[in-house]
Amino acid sequence: MNSSNKLPRLEELWTTTELPCIACAKLIGNDALIRTFCPIRRSSVAAPLRCSRTITGTSWNLFFYDRHQSCLPPHVNLISVSHVWDPAVSKAHHQGISTPSEEQSRVVQYIFKSLECIIDGLSTNIDDNTEIWYDYVCVPQWNDERKEKIMRIIPDIFQNSSFVLVHLDDVSVEAVSLLREGNTTKRRISGITQICNAR
Ligand SMILES: [Zn+2]
Repeated sequence: MNSSNKLPRLEELWTTTELPCIACAKLIGNDALIRTFCPIRRSSVAAPLRCSRTITGTSWNLFFYDRHQSCLPPHVNLISVSHVWDPAVSKAHHQGISTPSEEQSRVVQYIFKSLECIIDGLSTNIDDNTEIWYDYVCVPQWNDERKEKIMRIIPDIFQNSSFVLVHLDDVSVEAVSLLREGNTTKRRISGITQICNAR
């Protein structure tokens, strides 16, 4: 990341006021918000005609869409990311809006660095219809009312995804290689054990 000054502040990312749905233009109101984003390489001139918000500052420009659950178009190739929360992000989540600004900055850096790595890893699966759901950036974590409504529909989000990426950032590439390609039973078991011991 070399344009981190363009990243939003954590407060902007995790709080939200009333939102219009990009599909039907009505306010999200009491419904659950489905916020997804489409990543397009920064080097590309392509951009969607309209979106709810654009976030730059990584090697991918992220075009966000806020919608009602019922307004998610059927052609969307939805990829959801399931992951364990990083301790620093989790701490800021629990501290809420009183989190010191330097800490908020570090959390934002971590979130978007992690997001950039995930998108890089997914790049061969991304097409024009791909949208990603990743709770660090798709759930207004400091808006309890909004968040609780989203939590209730997470099973639907995962179920409607073309696939769910399980991101285990404490599992090494070597452990996965041992599991998949270990040339002895002992090496394969070693890979399985390392993966099972992940947080
Ligand atoms: Zn709508």
